Amino acid sequence: MLGLRMRTCGTCPFCGLLCDGITFPSQSTTAQADTLPNQNCERLTRGWLLSQPNSAWHLKPMRHGRISESQAAVSEAAQLIAQSRRPLFCGLGTDVAGMRQIVDYARHVGAILDHQHSDALQVNLKLLQHGGWISTTLSEIRFRADVIVLVGDGVLERFPRLLSLLADGTKPAPKIFWLGTDDLRFRSLALLLPELETISLKKSEWLSALSEIHARFSKRTCRDSAAPIANENKNSLAALETALAGSKYAAWIWSAADFLADGDDLILDSLLRVVTRLNESTRSAVLPLAGSHGDVTAQQVCTWKTGFPLRQVLNKVEADYQPQRYRALNVLKKNDCDSAVYVSAFEPIEPPEEFWNVSGVKVIVGHPALKSALRADYFFPTAIPGIDHDSHLFRGDGVAVVSLNAKRVALAPSVAEWFGNLLNEHVAQGGPSPSPSA
Ligand code: SF4
Repeated sequence: MLGLRMRTCGTCPFCGLLCDGITFPSQSTTAQADTLPNQNCERLTRGWLLSQPNSAWHLKPMRHGRISESQAAVSEAAQLIAQSRRPLFCGLGTDVAGMRQIVDYARHVGAILDHQHSDALQVNLKLLQHGGWISTTLSEIRFRADVIVLVGDGVLERFPRLLSLLADGTKPAPKIFWLGTDDLRFRSLALLLPELETISLKKSEWLSALSEIHARFSKRTCRDSAAPIANENKNSLAALETALAGSKYAAWIWSAADFLADGDDLILDSLLRVVTRLNESTRSAVLPLAGSHGDVTAQQVCTWKTGFPLRQVLNKVEADYQPQRYRALNVLKKNDCDSAVYVSAFEPIEPPEEFWNVSGVKVIVGHPALKSALRADYFFPTAIPGIDHDSHLFRGDGVAVVSLNAKRVALAPSVAEWFGNLLNEHVAQGGPSPSPSA
């Protein structure tokens, strides 16, 4: 039966926290307010609403905006992708099984691989490559940290139940600071959370602030006066310094999507130096959170199957990893691909406008509510991982793979099934046989 819920309790797939114990409605075919999971999470509510089928959903494969027989559409799409010189596989919003099939297929057609959140993933990867870091996990912070510093305006919007996970009452409540900008939105959100100590600094003041903290724990005078901190902010900064001085374990959490502007890498670099300094006398660690729309999953699967992260082209024998060159948007803007496949299974996130400039075949494998289904050359509707079918996803701290159960009967095949079909068709049409899968 359409939309029948098989389970009422499970794990939520809509952000990298992968909260478990979420109560889903036992039966629903519509997005009525009284059928929403009541977990005080806007993102879950939004994801759930978007996962409710309606008459505008495209539940059949499409060819040039018209419903097509499935096998014929797969066969034609596979043939056109195989004929292209350089395919691009982008978006990549899928689970472990979906990403494994995508990598296998990419290897056979020599495709470029990049996820829609790779800019943020690259920020963290570069920090790790250049200087390393002392990182921790959600569980360790939950059980051990006595001071937690959230860094960046967007971390609580991207991970709405983060605070309830960190201070769940199983130990004395940690002291939580939230370092944000002077943006009005941040300051308004901060007013709603009086239990947090919020520090609102202009972005240009952050480096000076971190240098000051570093200097305090180095027992020397801060010489960085590039952007002196306004007097009204000095008190809140002093409160953070005092808390750090008395802490046994301070954890710093950020979402790299808040640090995509030029020069932001210097802020995170400075933060890592503070953490290193703190570790000379106490314990401190960082947690760069990610994991939404399968970004960490895509990165991890790509790395374990090929030896390199995303932003690589998979030739038939080896990987060519060039993070600047193979950034999907750069590839699209420079016309460096002549066919493109876009994947977005969790939510109907439309492809970037540049996608439509690709000279060759444009294929979308994704959420049945995608409007671009009508515009693509081929559209293959997918089930939603962790809602429509059992699934595995990497949690946002990158250390745990979480198993998610289906909450209803699937209305469409999974991403893994579609890419498996494309690969089988590719081989049937004379492409090379699949190599043993990792
Ligand atoms: S915080 Fe994330 S995983 Fe948890 S319920 Fe909200 S959207 Fe789902």
